[in-house]
Amino acid sequence: MGTPLLLHACCGPCSLEPLRILREEGYDPVICWTNPNIQPLQEHDLRLRTLLSWARDVAKVDVIVAADDRDAWEAGVAPAGFDRVRRCRACYALRLAESCRVAREQGFSSISTTLAVSPYQLFDDCAELLERLAASHGLTAVVQDFRPYYAQATKEARELGMYRQNYCGCRFSAAEATMQRHEARDARKRARRAQKER
Ligand code: SF4
Repeated sequence: MGTPLLLHACCGPCSLEPLRILREEGYDPVICWTNPNIQPLQEHDLRLRTLLSWARDVAKVDVIVAADDRDAWEAGVAPAGFDRVRRCRACYALRLAESCRVAREQGFSSISTTLAVSPYQLFDDCAELLERLAASHGLTAVVQDFRPYYAQATKEARELGMYRQNYCGCRFSAAEATMQRHEARDARKRARRAQKER
């Protein structure tokens, strides 16, 4: 038996490598789902179903489905709008605070998050909030930079046929991702045109 740890999971694909690494390091993780940020609700439910079936059929890990307080997200996070740093910090804090509450309630002493695998997240902000919230709940934050394993997680998720989203979760991130894809496509077009004109 390893050291019990509650692992906040943002989605199935992002859980693959953190779970493997934490197990290798001697932890015995239980996953905690609390992601009221994911919009629309249909997308939220799809990501949760993806996580649950992988956890049950492949990873053999228990999942605690905690509160998904969508009203709290709208009140505390949405007003930040397209101010990415302010919005994501508030979003991390909401989800990590609920994870810490569950960890305390269920008798865990260590906590971590799969958010630390994605290069699209604000790693330092997330790590700082995890440390602070864990300390205020009397927990030990297991802060690890899982980002070097993101490519491997993406490959494995594809091989497992897992659903993989193309935006972080909220409506603002969906709009930002769409704009970035348009900008990248336009840049490719411009580059092709410039090459032809040479
Ligand atoms: S981009 Fe992701 S982390 Fe940031 S507010 Fe939206 S859902 Fe939350």
